[in-house]
Amino acid sequence: MSNSEQNSPDKSFRTTTRHMLKTSKEYQRQTLMGGLSGFESPIGLDRRDRIQALRTGDIGFVHSWDINTSVDGPGTRMTVFMSGCPLRCQYCQNPDTWKMRDGKPVYLDAMIKKVERYKDLFQSTGGGITFSGGESMMQPAFVSRVFRAAKEMGVHTCLDTSGFLNANYTDEMIDDIDLCLLDVKSGDEETYHKVTGGLLQPTIDFGQRLAKQGKKIWVRFVLVPGLTSSEENVENVARICEIFGDALEHVDILPFHQLGRPKWHELRIPYPLEDQKGPSQALRDRVKKQFEAHGFTVYV
Ligand code: SF4
Repeated sequence: MSNSEQNSPDKSFRTTTRHMLKTSKEYQRQTLMGGLSGFESPIGLDRRDRIQALRTGDIGFVHSWDINTSVDGPGTRMTVFMSGCPLRCQYCQNPDTWKMRDGKPVYLDAMIKKVERYKDLFQSTGGGITFSGGESMMQPAFVSRVFRAAKEMGVHTCLDTSGFLNANYTDEMIDDIDLCLLDVKSGDEETYHKVTGGLLQPTIDFGQRLAKQGKKIWVRFVLVPGLTSSEENVENVARICEIFGDALEHVDILPFHQLGRPKWHELRIPYPLEDQKGPSQALRDRVKKQFEAHGFTVYV
């Protein structure tokens, strides 16, 4: 997203979402405000200080933020899209979040103040703060310190993640997560690697840790015909969901769409799904039924 887009009142929300289930129009309708306004950048810090501040969580690199309803968890929420992601999903809608250095450094205090400002709104709507990305677990110190402050204010916390960086999170950090939107991108290592370039096991491990600590999970599964759609792959994802037991509240099937394609072009990154179509209604129904057969509540 260019700065001029971010600063323009009518365009500032257009490209912030990574969510596959919302069309941009729907998302805009549900988005109240956002961009990167209101955050002062710590311009004075040199590179070494920035790395140190990143490690301690005194600053975080942020792509954008917004206030939305019914998109990233319950109620009205502030969603913060963090910069940086170690995966390279073929269907990524936001390749512009991949590099942490492309984000804007934001002070921890400024982020906490922003949460405090909307505290009453969150509490009256049953909402809260959601960290998304990019990969929200790439900056664990910053995210977990904001969550700690949010919990102290009585604000609901939600982490939207692939779980790939499970090792970055301590049990103490997990303590401050109320809900996790966990992307289970495929059901076996081979397919997962093909889809993302990464490993599946950390996602399973993270989900198990969340469950063990009594946290809630909404699993998200992106349905791409021919890539993630085989009966076997869906079955394997459903079996992973079973491992999470009562922690799992529902499964979201996110139908693939092409809204992210212009970003790949803009960044001149070869886009592997150039001519990929979204799933037909029949395929959505089949996959929904597969998950339901395991006893899950499923939304498409
Ligand atoms: S996890 Fe995948 S979809 Fe999400 S930002 Fe990273 S590459 Fe994109």
